[in-house]
Amino acid sequence: MLALTSLTAAQTTAPAPVSPADPVFDAKCTPTVTLGEGEGDYRVDPDPARKSAFFDVAGSNPEAFMQDIGRKVCHILYRKASEIRQASHLTLVLSPAVGEVSFKSGDGADITVILSTDYLNKVKKEGGDVGSEIRGILFHEMTHMYQQDDSDLGGADGGLIEGIADSVRYRAGFMPGDAEPDKDGHWNDGYSTTAFFLLWLEKRFPDFIYKLNLSMDSQDNIKWTPDAFRVLTGKTVDQLWNEYKTSPD
Ligand SMILES: [Zn+2]
Repeated sequence: MLALTSLTAAQTTAPAPVSPADPVFDAKCTPTVTLGEGEGDYRVDPDPARKSAFFDVAGSNPEAFMQDIGRKVCHILYRKASEIRQASHLTLVLSPAVGEVSFKSGDGADITVILSTDYLNKVKKEGGDVGSEIRGILFHEMTHMYQQDDSDLGGADGGLIEGIADSVRYRAGFMPGDAEPDKDGHWNDGYSTTAFFLLWLEKRFPDFIYKLNLSMDSQDNIKWTPDAFRVLTGKTVDQLWNEYKTSPD
C-alpha cells in the first residue's frame, strides 16, 4: 500500500478550472435523470429499505445529485464546451443485481445505469463508505456518457475506455481503498491497471488524459489507434508501459 500514498487523486494534476460562469459548458453536462423500472433480470428493487442505501446518500433530489457529478466529470475531461460529447439523458435503475456492482447500457446520448442495491447494502453492512462508493461508481459510469470513444470509426480500445473512466473516478477523489497499480499487466487491461498508468502519464505529460480523450473524437472521421500515445508523448505506448513498469511511483 506504500506506493499508493504517492498516487492519491489529490496529488495528481488537478484539472484546469473552467470558468464557473460558462453556462453553455455546464448545460451540456447536465443530463435529465430518470429513475427507471428496469427489465428482465435487472428490474427495480421492490424493497424501499434496500433502496435507501442510495437515497440516504443522494438525498431527496437524486437528479440534482447526479447532474452535479455529470458536470464534475466534464470539468475533468474537457476544457471547452465545444469539445463535449453530446449526451442528454440517463436512466438509473436501482436493481438487486446480485453479484454485480454497476454497469451501463446504451451509448452516448441516452444511457441506462444499473446500480446494485445488493452491493450497496453489503458495503453498508461491512461498515464501508457507501457515499464514496456511490459517487465513485457514478463518476465511472457518467464518464462513459461523456468520454470520446471514436464511435464514428470504432478504433477505440475497450480497456483504455474503462481505464479513463476509473482515472476520472480517482481524480475526483473516489479511489477505492483496495485499488493499486498492477505493473505485471498490460497497458490496456482496463480499469485500475490502466487508470494508474494514465495517472502516471498525467504527472509527466500535463493534460495527458484530456488530450488522449480528445484524440478519440467521435466525429472526426479519423480511426483511432494507439499511435495517439506517440503523437502526444513522443514515445510508443509499449515504450511508455515499459518505463512505467520499472518506475518507483
Ligand atoms: Zn465502465
